[in-house]
Amino acid sequence: MPSGKDFGTGTKPSQGKRNANCSFCRKNYREVGPLVEGPEDVYICGECIELCQSILDQERRRRGSSTQLFNRVPSPRELVAELGEYVIGQEQAKRLLSVAVNSHYKRLMHQHEGDDDGVEIEKSNILLVGPTGCGKTLLAKTLARVLQVPFAIGDATTLTEAGYVGEDVENLLLKLLHSADFDIEAAQRGIIFIDEIDKIGKTSQNVSITRDVSGEGVQQALLKMLEGTVANVPPQGGRKHPEQQYIQIDTTNILFICGGTFVGMEDIVARRLGKKVIGFGNNSSTSDDVIREELLAQVDVDDIMEFGLIPELLGRLPVLGSLAPLTEDALMQVLTEPRNALVRQYKKLFEMEGCELEFTEGALFEIAKRARAKNTGARGLRSIVERTMFDIMYELPEQERGQAFKITDEMVRGEQTMLPGDSAAA
Ligand code: ADP
Repeated sequence: MPSGKDFGTGTKPSQGKRNANCSFCRKNYREVGPLVEGPEDVYICGECIELCQSILDQERRRRGSSTQLFNRVPSPRELVAELGEYVIGQEQAKRLLSVAVNSHYKRLMHQHEGDDDGVEIEKSNILLVGPTGCGKTLLAKTLARVLQVPFAIGDATTLTEAGYVGEDVENLLLKLLHSADFDIEAAQRGIIFIDEIDKIGKTSQNVSITRDVSGEGVQQALLKMLEGTVANVPPQGGRKHPEQQYIQIDTTNILFICGGTFVGMEDIVARRLGKKVIGFGNNSSTSDDVIREELLAQVDVDDIMEFGLIPELLGRLPVLGSLAPLTEDALMQVLTEPRNALVRQYKKLFEMEGCELEFTEGALFEIAKRARAKNTGARGLRSIVERTMFDIMYELPEQERGQAFKITDEMVRGEQTMLPGDSAAA
């Protein structure tokens, strides 16, 4: 067969030369199977074709992510709708984030298009205040997913000023770089979520003696990153080392979202507003929730300053949003509604065994009530559901297919097991 003739079809293996080797990996066709022949005695084996394909795919994804961003920025309304697929409630925070993120990426587009009209749109990093497990991290993570930009999460309490025991702030950038598959361009317009920002306040009780004692050094280091700087990132992570080669990352276009619980914030807001605070504590009555929510919604920079965050840092977090604690109703929704809700996951597992699973309203309410009592927001749900489901999950693979299972509130309370006469009940 004349060489090159069948290359165009790309499918016909070479039969011309009995002894051909792949021109890429040099392996013989006996080892790697049929080779595709190209012009002038060039051959390629299936393995190398697959490898090439994956290189091309990766490159395409990368390019896709760099151009896609600049084609069109989703509108705030679209972003809110997308967030709604995963995050229950928190409507105010969703809107606020969506507007900020929309402006942020429009700003990048503006730069990218080389608009030179002297108008410089400043970056709007975001500060989210709200109790544990109410969706701060989830919102940030979901935004990054919707926008298809790299995302990293860090915890402010582990950060230290260089020279102390702990992580340098540059490690956050390294995480982002990892998430971007080491594509520096992509990392430079990613999103970083920094949790527990309230714990690095100067006045915080939470400082460790091995760390910069005042917390202010960490705030200064963060400030530089938030403002925009070219940071030297040690590629292996860990401490900087004089002989090490650094990767340089410009943080100017990285969007920072900081989150904190700011425990006691309601009291501070109430004091500022001169309102009397009634019945706070562990009381979870609805009116109490409403008051908390209303107070949190009015949080402003002065209130945050009481937690010992330096004004310069707060100045770099101009968008301030608050999240409400999740009520029992919201927790029930968290169990069932988001795309990857826990109940949906369990239903899927049952489906895979040819069975059906249903949770009664009573069961969902009981789970929500118990999670609520733990004061860890939606985080408490998983362990309660897992405990409830444990016995049946153990037995499920041996159960007859085609069965329907119903989880009731008694089961959640541990008063009844799922399988009548089941030995696992003991
Ligand atoms: P935090 O506010 O402490 O950052 P997270 O966002 O990490 O809380 O929430 C922990 C988990 O709880 C999430 O992974 C998610 O499964 C669930 N969750 C919390 N809040 C919500 C919410 N508003 N809607 C849906 N799921 C939520």
